[in-house]
Amino acid sequence: MKFGTKAIHAGVEADETTGAIMTPIYQTSTYVQEEVGSHKGYEYSRTSNPTRHALEKNLAAIENGKYGACFGSGLAAIDCVIKMLNPGDEVISTNDLYGGTFRLFKTIFEKYGIIFHFVGMTNPIAVEAAVNENTKLIWVETPTNPMMNIIDIEAMAEISKKAGAWLCVDNTFATPYLQNPLDLGADIVMHSATKYLGGHSDVVMGALVTSNDQIAKEMYRIQNASGAVTAPMDSFLVLRGIKTLHLRVQRHCENGEKVANFLGAHPKVDKVYWPGLESHANHDIAKKQMRGFGGMISFSLVGNKLQDAHKVLKNVKVFALAESLGGVESLIGHPATMTHASIPKEEREKIGVVDSLIRLSVGVEDADDIIEDLRQALA
Ligand SMILES: *Cc1c(COP(=O)(O)O)cnc(C)c1O
Repeated sequence: MKFGTKAIHAGVEADETTGAIMTPIYQTSTYVQEEVGSHKGYEYSRTSNPTRHALEKNLAAIENGKYGACFGSGLAAIDCVIKMLNPGDEVISTNDLYGGTFRLFKTIFEKYGIIFHFVGMTNPIAVEAAVNENTKLIWVETPTNPMMNIIDIEAMAEISKKAGAWLCVDNTFATPYLQNPLDLGADIVMHSATKYLGGHSDVVMGALVTSNDQIAKEMYRIQNASGAVTAPMDSFLVLRGIKTLHLRVQRHCENGEKVANFLGAHPKVDKVYWPGLESHANHDIAKKQMRGFGGMISFSLVGNKLQDAHKVLKNVKVFALAESLGGVESLIGHPATMTHASIPKEEREKIGVVDSLIRLSVGVEDADDIIEDLRQALA
């Protein structure tokens, strides 16, 4: 089955009792058993719930994996992966990681004896150099936030296999419609379903997908034992969101390209970071592993003045100033004072997060209105 068909149908069957085409919201904590040990496959909703189960099967299908699991947030899904490790195990990750992931690694798991290394992953040699006999996990995010760096998933898979470590890819920015890390050699895919999968800025949720039986066993064990599960209503909303994922992402890509080209030609814009541009440093790798380049764009202003960036953020009307991304509505943010404010200025600038950098999550409104909004705000 092709992507759009799977997005709509995988994991979803007409309700047996009523024929309802939409998966019901099974708002129940427990399930009546006929006699001890005899039930219909569900015992308690932390362990399993039919609405969540339908979504988990759907997620596995659209990521070309065997097993899916949903969590209360993207971070709860990442938390599950790190809980598969033991004290003394080492993790290699990128130096421009999503801030929340960095905080989880450093402030929660480091004190339990797990060791994290952060390297520039666009250079596979730097990753190889950080490998030792304790390396158990390579954690990749691509494209990265907010610099849109592209990391070569196949190269990372080669390194992880040689090291006997697992490779996990945070596929939140790309979505399964544009990139399937399991097909490129990853062992686990992670999503913040809060973003494009949900797609309507109305749910916080995380997900993992794997085809590895051993990892799946641990994943479901921790999901049940730690209990950071998703609610039936939220599962329903994301299941509904995924039905239009391919349509939405197609439009995000089209609008992203138009906005990137507009910004690239604007006299007040200095640099534009969008993996679809030939000028992008990792454009070749993006072309190799992605089927499109999405709607996430960052750009800096000529003169690099903080006040100028703030003026643009204040003057936009279609764009909303907000954290998060991946919804139908266009959002605008300022990494230096929002998502990356906790990183010292010098460190921030080393990875490219300068004072005038602006990040866009280009939505699916009409491109003309989005571009006109940026034109008047830049003026
Ligand atoms: C938002 C995000 C997360 C965290 O997900 P939550 O659902 O907010 O917990 C992780 N990785 C990336 C790339 C994200 O954008």
